Amino acid sequence: MKNKKNITGKNHIHTAVFEPAVKNISKIISILNQEYPDDTHTSLKRKNSFQLLVATILSAQSTDKLVNKVTPHLFEKYRSPEDFARADIIQLQEDIRSTGFFRNKARNIINCAKDIINKFGGKMPDNIEDLTSLHGVGRKTANVVLANVFGKQAIIVDTHVKRISNRLGLTVNSDPVKIEFDLMKIIPENSWSSFSHRIIAFGRTICLAKNPKCPICSLLKYCRYGQENT
Ligand code: SF4
Repeated sequence: MKNKKNITGKNHIHTAVFEPAVKNISKIISILNQEYPDDTHTSLKRKNSFQLLVATILSAQSTDKLVNKVTPHLFEKYRSPEDFARADIIQLQEDIRSTGFFRNKARNIINCAKDIINKFGGKMPDNIEDLTSLHGVGRKTANVVLANVFGKQAIIVDTHVKRISNRLGLTVNSDPVKIEFDLMKIIPENSWSSFSHRIIAFGRTICLAKNPKCPICSLLKYCRYGQENT
């Protein structure tokens, strides 16, 4: 019988965190701070808070790079929640088609814009409960907004944070909400947002989904995957 593969792609299911990673979290944070000093915010382009929410919805199952190619034109056409609420859904689908899952995304964006207008008087809510009450907005999207619009501390569990926190051994969970709460216990609160953005930058450059560059990685000695596979 084949073993079930875990998130790191190995036939090994871990049931506990990796102590060297957890105990050395301040060193891990400091290395990331040194290596990614400028990566403290999202790379998604926008001119206002609702546009960031839209860009984050578009980034699901896509990449920031691809979304940033679509949004300059999109955000010229639709600037405010009112503009998106009035959008023709077929036209909006065409406008965002290249980001994938465009039918769902178009529906969610229009309904989300209507929610902002009808429930919050057109103003972006500034807390996780209200943000996650909007159509198409889960905790990851809400946390991107909290960190990048309101300057609040938030752990953003995207595909990179999910993969790397498992490889390091900071969590053994695959559910993003459980990972978020695991990381909230380990990472000091004043580093939640910067840690998330730096891990995302690290995931794009070193700890790649396929073929992570473990031999040249500065976190190798604190990383369970690196210790087990190099
Ligand atoms: Fe990622 Fe490898 Fe570095 Fe671990 S040692 S963080 S798996 S690149």
